[in-house]
Amino acid sequence: MTFREIIEHFNEQIKDAENLLSPARSKELQLLSCNTLEQLLKAATVNKLKAMKACLENESNILLGYECAIGSVLCELRMWILLKLDKGNEAWDQLIGAQIAAMDALRAHDGFCHAASRIEHLETLETILFPPQSFLSAGFISKNLDCSICGNAFATCDHLRGKPYMGVFCEVIHRDIEGDHIALVETPADKRCRVTSYKVKMGHTDKITLSVTPYKDGEKYNDDNTLEIEGIFFATDRYPYLTLNKNVLLEP
Ligand SMILES: [Zn+2]
Repeated sequence: MTFREIIEHFNEQIKDAENLLSPARSKELQLLSCNTLEQLLKAATVNKLKAMKACLENESNILLGYECAIGSVLCELRMWILLKLDKGNEAWDQLIGAQIAAMDALRAHDGFCHAASRIEHLETLETILFPPQSFLSAGFISKNLDCSICGNAFATCDHLRGKPYMGVFCEVIHRDIEGDHIALVETPADKRCRVTSYKVKMGHTDKITLSVTPYKDGEKYNDDNTLEIEGIFFATDRYPYLTLNKNVLLEP
């Protein structure tokens, strides 16, 4: 296959999958499409690695963009499936994965500028499908900041954070981090960081589903107007849209 044929194949397969992005579509067809997209994602990676080996920067970055674009549709499909399975929290993570992937596609190559409208669409879905969330942001101090591309101190190299270099995004690696504080914020860096439950007399109330998990033996509830919450304040997986279907859809 030529490069153009590979791209045409990717576009056709993405278009087919996009046709299933609705809660009204059959779950079975959506599951099949998730498998197809996972294979397509693998194909994008294999071709990207070949392009990287041949030092073809433009092709490498286009294929990086396809990894992101495929990952975004895959995450949205998994979100619809998980909502049908009554798994609101897991569905939320997939929606955010789809948003992260669309933002990455936009940064990967100019050819993915249409991802901007997809980001808008996914943000609309966030407000329509899910109740408002309380986001968390962790403040921490890092001893060193290194560049993921060249490994040097970030302040001393020419690479730019978030830019693609030969099919790979430049990221800042924080070394020797020390926690400082956790804050409630309106616009978090990562929407996976949020209050997940709060305590009421009967147990822990899930912030998304509102279901209450009764307290285990030894757990205490203070009935003195203190608000106690559980939350996620740090997500370590930078590329959630690369997570395999079996790890998202088959877990109990
Ligand atoms: Zn660098």
